[in-house]
Formats: sequence, C-alpha cells, structure tokens
Amino acid sequence: MGMEYVSKEGTWFIEFNTPFSWHVRAIRRVLYSGVTKYQRVAVVEFEDLGKALILDGKVQSSLYDEFIYHESLVHPVMITHPNPKKVLILGGGEGATAREVLRHRGVREVVMVDIDEEVIRVVKEYLPEMSQGAFDDPRLRLVIDDGRKFLERVNDKYDVVILDLTDPLEGGPSYLLYTLEFYRIVRDRLSDGGLMVTQATSTYYALRTFATIYKTVASVFPVAKAYHVYVPSFDSTWGFVIGSLGPDPTSLTPDEVNRRISERINGELRFYDGYMHRALFTLPKHVVRVLEDPSIRPATDSNPTFMPA
Ligand code: SAM
Repeated sequence: MGMEYVSKEGTWFIEFNTPFSWHVRAIRRVLYSGVTKYQRVAVVEFEDLGKALILDGKVQSSLYDEFIYHESLVHPVMITHPNPKKVLILGGGEGATAREVLRHRGVREVVMVDIDEEVIRVVKEYLPEMSQGAFDDPRLRLVIDDGRKFLERVNDKYDVVILDLTDPLEGGPSYLLYTLEFYRIVRDRLSDGGLMVTQATSTYYALRTFATIYKTVASVFPVAKAYHVYVPSFDSTWGFVIGSLGPDPTSLTPDEVNRRISERINGELRFYDGYMHRALFTLPKHVVRVLEDPSIRPATDSNPTFMPA
C-alpha cells in the first residue's frame, strides 16, 4: 500500500461532535471562508462528501447526502398534512428545504426567514446545487430576520412550519428557537390541524438535547412524534420532532404515504417513501427510554437547552 493511503497531506477539517470526540475530513479545496454578523461561514469541497456548507465549525449539509436530511425534514410533515398550501420555513439557508417544499404541487406560498443574508449570498454563489432554482420560484418569499422576531410580529397563519435552524449552541443565533415559549408562538401561528417540524440534533452524541427538544414540543402540542435517520455528513443518526394540532404522522400506512407522494410531489424522491416513513418513526428502545425519562424537562427561555448536553 502506498503512503497516500496511510497519511494524506493537505488541509483537514475537524468537527467537534462533543468536547471528547471529533470527526476529521480531508478538504480538497476551500471555496469560501468568512465571518458574518452572526456566525463563521465556509463552503468547502471535501474529498468524501463533495461540496458542503459549514457554519460555526459544524457541517450543515453536503452534496453527498443532503437529500437524506432534507427529504426527511420536509416530507413526513408535508405528507401528514391533508393539503398544505401555505408553508413557513425558519432557517434553511441553503435553499434545499425550500426546494423540497416547492416540489409539492399544492403549495401556493412559501415564506422563508433566515437571519443571515450573507449565508444566502454565499450559498447562491458557491452552492447553487442545493437550492436548484428555489430562490427564483415565484411562490417563495425570502425574509431576512430572526425567525422568532418574525413570528412574534406577523399575524398570518401557516399550514406547516419547518424549523431548519442551526443547532442550539450557547452564544449562537438559534437557541431561543428551541424553547417552550417559542413553540407556543409557533402553535399560535398554525392554521387548524397544522403541523410543525424541527431538526432536533443528534440521537447519538446529543441524545439528551434531542429528548429535551421532544419534551418541549410535547408540552405544547397535543401530538408530538420524534424520529431519526442516519446522515453520514453529521456522523450520526439525526433527530427530528413533529408537533401537530391535527393528524398523527405515525397513523399513515406505507400505501397511503406512497399514494400521497405520487399525487402531490413533482419529480422522483431519492430517499423518502411509504416504507421509509414507517422506518423513520421506529426508534430503538434505548432512545425511547431517554425520551420517556422524567428527569428531562422542557427547555425554557430562562433555562434553554444547548448542544452537546
Ligand atoms: N441542516 C442544518 C444543521 O445541520 O443544523 C441546518 C441548516 S440551515 C443552513 C441553518 C440556518 O439557520 C442558517 O442559514 C442560519 O443562518 C439560520 N438561523 C440560525 N439562527 C436563526 C434565527 N434565529 N432565525 C432565522 N434563521 C436562523
């Protein structure tokens, strides 16, 4: 075996999953690196994952597997709703969440609110493969604002709210969008039978943070369901939590999910179908046990949850 397989010289990116474990990836080239008003931003090309967006040292998504994350975030909640027309996305800077929402033929209006104008400019220029034209769709309105402040200000109602925010990092821009007070605001902005979903961090190296987010959503919504999927870019199974004022996502059969997909979604999905829908919500026993742990309390503005817990 040649030395090139043993050690590789060049640029390496280290992502701290926790203070005690890191993932190291080889970078082929750095396309952009800078600091905005809110966070550090980089677009790099990894040897194994292709182009990727990194914020505050955390990989947000990569071309290798972004479809797994974005299809898992968007479609379970959209398919569970009987007929979502008006959708709000908070975060989602890459534009890939908007892209997946806009594939739903019944959607009339999407409002996307991201705090960081600079992230949007950078991804449009260096990572257009993520949005695939979503920013130019006439149904999309982009607002630059803090997602919570936006929701506190508007009186509009949405059928589905999708929270595609950065992880709740201490000192970061998003941790106040993972609290009880915030989910109450989201609930009050949903139309009858509406649903919300949030990305909910790692079910491996931040399991208690994931459980805290679940407990927080469950304390506000009559129906709360947690699920996860393995995302290679995040080096972990990744969690999501749905809060619903109406239908329960776990009541849909695979055939019903497949029927809705073919009736409503343009183009071919790469990851999600009726069987994956069922698989996503099938959590292992040790995760369920933590979700049920009574010592894990909902996060509040005065006692928020931070990752890693
Ligand atoms: N896949 C993701 C992950 O790994 O955490 C999330 C991706 S997306 C790039 C996260 C977006 O949330 C970023 O574009 C960031 O600017 C935005 N964001 C962070 N805090 C926010 C806030 N308070 N309001 C609106 N957008 C926010």
